[in-house]
Amino acid sequence: MSNLTTARVLTVDHWTDRLFSFTATREPGLRFRSGQFVMLGLQVEGKPLLRAYSIASAAYEDQLEFLSIKVPDGPLTSRLQHLAPGDEILLGRKPTGTLLPDLLLPGKRLYLFATGTGLAPFLSLVKDPELYERFEQVVLVHGVRHIAELAYRQFLTEELPRHELLGELVQAQLRYIPTVTREPFQTNGRITDLIANGKLAELAGAPALHAAEDRVMLCGSPAMLTDLRPILEAAGFNEGSHNEPGEFVVERAFAER
Ligand SMILES: Cc1cc2nc3c(=O)[nH]c(=O)nc-3n(C[C@H](O)[C@H](O)[C@H](O)COP(=O)(O)OP(=O)(O)OC[C@H]3O[C@@H](n4cnc5c(N)ncnc54)[C@H](O)[C@@H]3O)c2cc1C
Repeated sequence: MSNLTTARVLTVDHWTDRLFSFTATREPGLRFRSGQFVMLGLQVEGKPLLRAYSIASAAYEDQLEFLSIKVPDGPLTSRLQHLAPGDEILLGRKPTGTLLPDLLLPGKRLYLFATGTGLAPFLSLVKDPELYERFEQVVLVHGVRHIAELAYRQFLTEELPRHELLGELVQAQLRYIPTVTREPFQTNGRITDLIANGKLAELAGAPALHAAEDRVMLCGSPAMLTDLRPILEAAGFNEGSHNEPGEFVVERAFAER
């Protein structure tokens, strides 16, 4: 059996000229856990052109959802950005990844730190009731350059808190903190700045990051990961793996080529 399957695009929504989302059909055999990524792509000149994509829908949802960058000369996204309902995409059959609650030791509070499209796996996780069973409080921080790049902001502030099944959990346990670096906004600054200047603790209504009770998932640009990892390690956080759970886990939102 091929390691690839296909899906049909259902909807496409463009956030900016650099960012779009799309949904696609999910075949019943495609199993994944909330927070994982999958290989996704298109048939180009008779060959599959694939890239890693975090799944933004939760494990229990009937459709697949993705949040994508548009890289003007990117081999895949220069094409993918023209997707329309009814188009066929290719999908790997084996979703994988490290942004899983199982890779974390039990804790009180879970911080989800994302930049750009790094939000995608956390959209999946914050829609999963399991997360709210494991952690008393979940703090989702999304850092972008411009306000328009705060994809899913309305979903996170208005729709999810009113969700029929999840709404009560979300209202009681989820704190969403969007932050912008290049134009005035309610919160300005990089995630590292918000940690250092105490703004994160203030907005989360929590004590400063502490390895004894806090757990962290990171998904962002290589630069964001390079900056944040040493801050966590210096504060006594150890990285979790499939072999040994820890206090934080990391996934790259993309790789520099
Ligand atoms: C584990 C993992 C999960 C990923 N999940 C997603 C996802 O959910 N959504 C998504 O859009 N991309 C995601 N990516 C990146 C994705 O695999 C591709 O790199 C992206 O789709 C661009 O493909 P491309 O062929 O057009 O350009 P590529 O040749 O792959 O990339 C060209 C350049 O564009 C820049 N770039 C690539 N992706 C991004 C991005 N997401 N944000 C900002 N700059 C970028 C980088 O500088 C890169 O060197 C993920 C990557 C990894 C490793």
